[in-house]
Amino acid sequence: MVSEGNKSKQTKREQIIAQARRDQAARQKTYREKALKMFPWVCGRCGREFTGRRVRELTVHHKDHNHDNNPPDGSNWELLCIYCHDNEHARDQVADWYQHDGSGQTPQSQSDNKPFAGLADLLEKGSTGAEKNRKD
Ligand SMILES: [Zn+2]
Ligand SMILES: [Zn+2]
Repeated sequence: MVSEGNKSKQTKREQIIAQARRDQAARQKTYREKALKMFPWVCGRCGREFTGRRVRELTVHHKDHNHDNNPPDGSNWELLCIYCHDNEHARDQVADWYQHDGSGQTPQSQSDNKPFAGLADLLEKGSTGAEKNRKD
């Protein structure tokens, strides 16, 4: 009985979390739509114009980098194309990358399997098969 109670409690908690996630997603969608209505579809950095379906490439940047700060007057928003938006955030990320990527190496497969070993095997089998066929 006790475990049942805990279970229902956890389910409720999960429901609340799921609801919060949905709310956040809805908020993000809303502020994007608001920003697109409020501002001309022009990148604030490179000045490229976006029309029709290409507006997908336009993103809403938060000037203070706080995605929860969405004043209705749009004072914290800036429309940036995906490239300029990347650049805008790259400045912060560079520090992270230097910290995380101390080794400077990307893990690569060490297996130096000879690519022609299998092929030779296949050719051998194929030729014997062909010979066999010819004989038959
Ligand atoms: Zn741009
Ligand atoms: Zn941003």
